[in-house]
Amino acid sequence: MPDSDSVFTLSDLASWAHPGVSLAVLGHPIKHSVSPAMHNAALARLAQSHPRFRDWRYVRFDIPPADLPQALEQFHAKKFRGLNLTVPHKVIAFGRVREIDPAAQPVGAINTLRWSESGWQGFNTDGHGLASGVQATLGRDLAAGPVILLGAGGAARGAAVECLQRGCPALWIANRTRENLDTLLTAIRPLARQTVLHGFAPDAPPAELPRGALVINATSAGLRPADPAPIDLAALPRPAAVYDMIYNPPATPLLLQAGKLGLACANGLTMLVHQGAKSLEIWTGVSAGQTAPTMLAAARAALGA
Ligand code: NDP
Repeated sequence: MPDSDSVFTLSDLASWAHPGVSLAVLGHPIKHSVSPAMHNAALARLAQSHPRFRDWRYVRFDIPPADLPQALEQFHAKKFRGLNLTVPHKVIAFGRVREIDPAAQPVGAINTLRWSESGWQGFNTDGHGLASGVQATLGRDLAAGPVILLGAGGAARGAAVECLQRGCPALWIANRTRENLDTLLTAIRPLARQTVLHGFAPDAPPAELPRGALVINATSAGLRPADPAPIDLAALPRPAAVYDMIYNPPATPLLLQAGKLGLACANGLTMLVHQGAKSLEIWTGVSAGQTAPTMLAAARAALGA
């Protein structure tokens, strides 16, 4: 059995000889990933009632972006049942797989690959992860009211597409760099059917912003201790709740301010867990709802939370 604590590289793949079913997460860097802990805990739990999962293993591979095309071919040749992709591979892989799930097309990024005889099938489970994480922690449906989304990078695009596909009534997007905001708005506008869609600068919130919005942080502001909060929550009409996609550190400046203002708030650990559970569903057929609780406990333990 491969050691699930190890970080493997492309050179290990040539001699990969696990006789059971192999799954992996590819990233660069990757050693911080808690995905092996989550998935192997869920697989061990499943194996108690379904012996076929006893020889399934999920490992991590450090793959630099320039090596990804070659790596995808080799993982396919070695018949890995599935792959997760994290930074910086989600967009690079999009144009390099045989088939893309229609729901992932407007996101322009994939985080889950499933092996098929003729090539990789690509999916994006981040949107499901966000919607389920928000529901699990804040009891709120993305379609239930207005959303104020912070950021215009890859995670924000996935979140915006999910909000629009679910039909949220109004989506306000704020981003530090106007050009990136405009690029995102142009890309997603065709999906905004009944949704009112606006952009704004986070340091100049417009007067028309609605009360009772769900604020979602999809910026990376908060990953480092010295980062500023991506917006001043006190400058917004009182939001209903705040969800920060960042989970490490568990309390960002944005969440600390939300707590001081008495707002319901949660970090992104549940998003991580639910996107992982959905990936496992794609590979195993076991519903995400069944494995998510085990994955959450394992992720918390791995992060020392
Ligand atoms: P990108 O690099 O694609 O985008 C980064 C975004 O953050 C941009 O909008 C950028 O704005 C903004 N930003 C960066 N630094 C600052 C700052 N100091 N102040 C204000 N805005 C800033 O990253 P991703 O979209 O891939 O990821 C964003 C975050 O989401 C990360 O923290 C990541 O960890 C988290 N994430 C969590 C997941 C989960 O499962 N919980 C899944 C995926 C992502 P600008 O355009 O101005 O540069």
